[in-house]
Amino acid sequence: MRPQNTGWSVGLDIGGTKTLAVLLDPTGAPGDQLRLPTERGAEAVVDTAATAAADLLARADLHADQLTGIGIGLPGIVDPTTGRVEHAVNLGIATGIPLAERVAEAVHRRLNGRGGAAPVPVRVENDLNAAALGAAHLRGPGSGDLAFLALGTGLAAGLVLDGRLRRGAGGAAGEIGHLVYQPGGRPCPCGQRGCLEQYASGSALLAAWPGPGDRPAPVALFESADAGDPAAVTIRTEFAEAVATAVRVLLLTTDVAQVVIGGGVSELGSPLVDLVRARLDHAARESRFLASMRMAERVDLAPRGVPVGAVGAALVGRKES
Ligand SMILES: [Zn+2]
Repeated sequence: MRPQNTGWSVGLDIGGTKTLAVLLDPTGAPGDQLRLPTERGAEAVVDTAATAAADLLARADLHADQLTGIGIGLPGIVDPTTGRVEHAVNLGIATGIPLAERVAEAVHRRLNGRGGAAPVPVRVENDLNAAALGAAHLRGPGSGDLAFLALGTGLAAGLVLDGRLRRGAGGAAGEIGHLVYQPGGRPCPCGQRGCLEQYASGSALLAAWPGPGDRPAPVALFESADAGDPAAVTIRTEFAEAVATAVRVLLLTTDVAQVVIGGGVSELGSPLVDLVRARLDHAARESRFLASMRMAERVDLAPRGVPVGAVGAALVGRKES
């Protein structure tokens, strides 16, 4: 039997280009972090995850028995109950693998003398859900329900309601990117036209403002708009309006206390969230009902400098999801 652990956990956020790992202490505070490049394919993903987890333990001089678990967040179709990953295109995983089991075995092999009798349990979760848990945890106890709005290549939200993840009956809760925003509008890979994701996402910005190519599209657009380029100003305002719509949808359907904006586009920082708040205020001026919801006050950016997804994954590892 596993001895009583002391509550440390490791979280891994495996993205298409990098794997972020963090150690969470028994109080839930994030500590040492690691960043490794992600290589494609099931073998490489398992290998990188196990290396990151074992390295964090070694650096903190922790024994496996002091660890309550390892959690992994990754983009793909994940079954949290079995630990299987069926499909993770960005990671080069096309067919299903028992990822949790494979990583648990690989970590156990790497720990040598510091491993316990049995492998440390590994749990997996969709990366967006893990980020929602991480964002709620970092806001502190009692901060209420939260939606994590990921503005990345696509657009989707993770929901933490009453302190728990809301996955939905089919795991599709929060897939607001495929709400039709402009009927008959831009085609979406989902088969519909005019999906919100086609107007409020990193790929939408890239399509609308390909830019000079030496900087990310969102940065190039915001710079051109700041410099007074009227086309850039229009595109930026339309983008902010679409993001504000996503926020309104989340607040009107779930009435969460906070909508936290994360994902790659959120690296724009306060200029982004200020514009989104301005669009929400603009709508509130025309609607007493919207004004009563104080939406602009309920939007914030994900914390900078903390790997929110990896922290959430560590909570998944602690089975606090
Ligand atoms: Zn769609």
